[in-house]
Amino acid sequence: MSTGVNRSTLRDWREHPEKELSRAACPRCAGSPWLPEPHADYAYLLGLYLGDGCISRAGAGDKDVWKLRIMCADAWPGLIRECERVMRSIRPGNKVSTQQKVGCTEVISCSRHWPCLFPQHGPGKKHMRKIDLQPWQRTIVMANPGHFARGLFHSDGYRGINRVRAHLAQSDQWYEYPRYLFTNESRDILRLCGETLDLLGVAWRFSRRNAISVARREAVARLDEFVGPKY
Ligand SMILES: [Zn+2]
Repeated sequence: MSTGVNRSTLRDWREHPEKELSRAACPRCAGSPWLPEPHADYAYLLGLYLGDGCISRAGAGDKDVWKLRIMCADAWPGLIRECERVMRSIRPGNKVSTQQKVGCTEVISCSRHWPCLFPQHGPGKKHMRKIDLQPWQRTIVMANPGHFARGLFHSDGYRGINRVRAHLAQSDQWYEYPRYLFTNESRDILRLCGETLDLLGVAWRFSRRNAISVARREAVARLDEFVGPKY
């Protein structure tokens, strides 16, 4: 048998598979980089991370361990469980925990490899630095635009009812319609959101400098297929 791996390493893997999972088998810094399927889970977690997530050192112990935190607003039902699920799917060897905060729940997982998986990690706030996707991330997002948009809107987005007053001859009339808003301070992340909506065929516009609005009836209906008021 010629695998290029020596016998004692093979024995170690066989007897301690958990070691392999938690340490060596990083999907990105392994000899030939890959990502676990389904890539849709990665696209969704990338959206959540870019929207409202952060990576920081896990603490005093091991300097190489990083903590990924995603802030999940209580307003999206099911989001916390979905976030826990995709974190586990991408780093199956690492524990996932939650911490209740005011109006939101932090979903947390520690791994040495979050910076490999999210190379957008860096010092300071996201809107103060350049956020660009690497070619392998772009490939995944292009193949799973709906999941990426879902992650972005679930973390930094909002789906609500907009009320508009129409001035008629006799009296004013109020109209209500659902719309999506995605608010973010990073121009790069706004650009990624806009490109993804273009890819999905969802009409959008900037309603403010830092907010993307999806308000046309057919555009809202299209985005509902991927994001949805609830799921
Ligand atoms: Zn790694």
